[in-house]
Amino acid sequence: MTARKRWILAQSIRPAASRAVRALSPGQWLAVAVLGLSGVAAFGLAPGTTLDTAPTREINRALPVPEVRSIDDRLAGYWREERIQRGDTVGSVLSRLGVNDPDAMAFMRTDPAARPLYQLRPGRPLTVETGDDGLLLRLRFVTGSGDLLSVVRDGQHFAAATTVAPAAVHWKMAAGEIRSSLFGAADAIGLPDAVTIQLADVFAGDIDFYKDIQRGDRFSVVYEMRYVEGEAVGAGRIVAAEFSNRGKEFRAYLWRDAGGAESYYAQDGSALRKAFLRSPMEFSRVTSGFSNSRFHPILRTWRAHKGIDYAAPVGTPVRATGNGKLLFAGVEGGYGKVIHLQNSGAYSTLYAHLSRFAPQLKPGARIAQGEVIGYVGQTGWATGPHLHYEFRVANEQRDPLTIALPGGEPLPAADRAAFMAGIAPATLQLALARTLPFPLAAASD
Ligand SMILES: [Zn+2]
Repeated sequence: MTARKRWILAQSIRPAASRAVRALSPGQWLAVAVLGLSGVAAFGLAPGTTLDTAPTREINRALPVPEVRSIDDRLAGYWREERIQRGDTVGSVLSRLGVNDPDAMAFMRTDPAARPLYQLRPGRPLTVETGDDGLLLRLRFVTGSGDLLSVVRDGQHFAAATTVAPAAVHWKMAAGEIRSSLFGAADAIGLPDAVTIQLADVFAGDIDFYKDIQRGDRFSVVYEMRYVEGEAVGAGRIVAAEFSNRGKEFRAYLWRDAGGAESYYAQDGSALRKAFLRSPMEFSRVTSGFSNSRFHPILRTWRAHKGIDYAAPVGTPVRATGNGKLLFAGVEGGYGKVIHLQNSGAYSTLYAHLSRFAPQLKPGARIAQGEVIGYVGQTGWATGPHLHYEFRVANEQRDPLTIALPGGEPLPAADRAAFMAGIAPATLQLALARTLPFPLAAASD
């Protein structure tokens, strides 16, 4: 997944400003509405549907296209396709496809180049061309990593090759409402985990996804999906998203500057990335639920001991909320195992009651925002496993909710007009996503 993500990030993208906004025809609206019943609409998938507002970018790489060996025309047979089912073996799929070719089977079992064929994933198609007698002429298969495996017969011999297939990137949109957790809501609408995690990351400067999420919060997201041979092979970046948290609306748009750097900005061009994350808890499936701790809401605990407590299982990763330098990592009285970071200017942050430290915490170490620095525990004066987090200004504990925190760099004025024009298609799709019916309460949510 990481490799794929990096690959996607490496693609060149067309400036958003060049995307045209055009009205949808009634037929296109209908397609959106029908697809919307599942809570996720996929553009470019419905037959005969092309939405001008959902740009498709052909990604071209300087890689050889799988060489198709010359095949005698008299041998040319029929292409057939089968979806892989749960419990399938390569043999069982090929048998359903009418392949009756022991030589081909022996080749695919033993040739290392054919090995990706054995990464069978239910739902993926396997396509073969066979002769009248069931001999395998050609086989095509999109592998788990989104590459294209082809097996070609050349007389009595076979050759297999895996190539990076040209991918098309389409926009998809989804909308959900939170009932128990962000992951629960994402699962209910089929949002890929990689997008859910990005969503929490994009808004990490504004929303504490550990403490602030509540039932009834809503989100809409427009994101990229990569397709190879018509098969979805992986999610890309979030293009635009909005999150309604406790009645407050946040919106984010991806923007790529002339130098190629990508960041998220709010509708007015202010930076989404802040000097501090709202939560020191790393967002994951474990931390995405409501905190059902005995600790009271932030302000009540705040008066008691000038810190914010996060109840969490021992071992839950704790991350640095801002860039900084390690001041101290060790054992200190009631704090137990504690980390103190010197952040920018007069700001410092402290993380206490940890069970252990991350290995890179050497004296004076530079720590990046979001980096995992330790793990939740109950060392020191703690009656249960939790993280005690302090935000200090000039070494005095302050409530990060009530003081003005430094923000990130806003969009340069020179980019503003292009940004406003460029975000229009995504804004339109966010508006469409908002009209999608949310799926009824699912057991998993
Ligand atoms: Zn505390």
